[in-house]
Amino acid sequence: MGENLNLFTSTQHVIKDALGKLGYQDEMYELLKEPVRLLTVRIPVRMDDGSIRVFTGYRAQHNDAVGPTKGGVRFHPDVDEEEVKALSMWMSLKCGIVDLPYGGGKGGIVCDPRTMSFAELERLSRGYVRAISQIVGPTKDIPAPDVYTNSQIMAWMMDEYSRLRENDSPGFITGKPLVLGGSQGREKATAQGVTICIEEAAKRRGINIEGARVVIQGFGNAGSFLAKFMHDAGAKVIAISDAHAALHDPKGLDIDYLLDRRDSFGTVTTLFENTISNKELLELDCDILVPAAVSNQITADNANNIKASIVVEAANGPTTVEATRILSDRGILLVPDVLASAGGVTVSYFEWVQNNQGYYWTEDEVNEKLHKKLVAAFNTVYETAENRRVNMRLAAYMVGARKMAEASRFRGWV
Ligand code: GLU
Repeated sequence: MGENLNLFTSTQHVIKDALGKLGYQDEMYELLKEPVRLLTVRIPVRMDDGSIRVFTGYRAQHNDAVGPTKGGVRFHPDVDEEEVKALSMWMSLKCGIVDLPYGGGKGGIVCDPRTMSFAELERLSRGYVRAISQIVGPTKDIPAPDVYTNSQIMAWMMDEYSRLRENDSPGFITGKPLVLGGSQGREKATAQGVTICIEEAAKRRGINIEGARVVIQGFGNAGSFLAKFMHDAGAKVIAISDAHAALHDPKGLDIDYLLDRRDSFGTVTTLFENTISNKELLELDCDILVPAAVSNQITADNANNIKASIVVEAANGPTTVEATRILSDRGILLVPDVLASAGGVTVSYFEWVQNNQGYYWTEDEVNEKLHKKLVAAFNTVYETAENRRVNMRLAAYMVGARKMAEASRFRGWV
């Protein structure tokens, strides 16, 4: 609970700093410091044993000045109001940074999908869509996958929405299976985006990806695809970890073998005896460190021991505010989460465009467009950081907040 409140207030602080640097008055911060809309719903679901359980769900819409709001729905026991609010603000920033015609939204249901059956998850997903249907839609607010939700859940949600509206509405939600209007490349999009940020950061630091030593914390969707991309690009992935432990080999790990042995929750280290801890992994001697697991990993306690020259945040909020300052003072290039993890929503935007036009692109076309967007976003943030003499996180918030502030001003809201 406390942690999510922290996430929310630290997001507010950086937005305040960013708006201040951009020269906006306090009124703009008053508008952007909270989502414009937050809906809390109670969803009754018949469980397989015949009993009824009532779940709590949320949908937050941060700012819809630029366009409809956009962002995932997570199913997790720790979901609460503060988390959903903070994450909707991050989505606004991500959309601003990669220049998508959206504001940010986020949803969540307090539940543990790991203990629920397929049929119970379907009833919960459909119940959520019925509960929030008034405030969502292809031109209002477009959901997507997030923690513990996937293309099957998106398919049920799309079907429920289409039935309610009595027309086929693929553009209501993204991250769908290909056969229902999903986009090529959506599944790997987050890892692709991180890879592009690593390549750009490496160029700026004169590091050659071929032979570079990479450490990745986390072996879930982002971490595992990323390990593969880095390995295929000729980098040496010297360490990876899951929730249990980490594997380290200074000569480079056999990534294809590890991917093959990984279970559906991303666990692989339990198969080995010679492991190190997640804490040790972060402090390994390497060129590029990618926290791709959970929040609050690099803190004031270990920031001085980080040896990488580039840190790219593939997870949400892995570095605390104090640690961000320490890393920047030490000259480490920190690519912030709101930029590095924007690949997912970028390909979601491409999916929505394809749904709207009814004409679909190849994986190469999608990847080329993603590459263009992410390189442009990286360069804008990097140059803002250089020109304004601020760290990359503050620069990213400045770039992300500018468009929604401008749009709110043109609309006459502030
Ligand atoms: N949940 C993902 C994110 O946090 C994707 C959102 C989307 O695709 O709209 O960026």
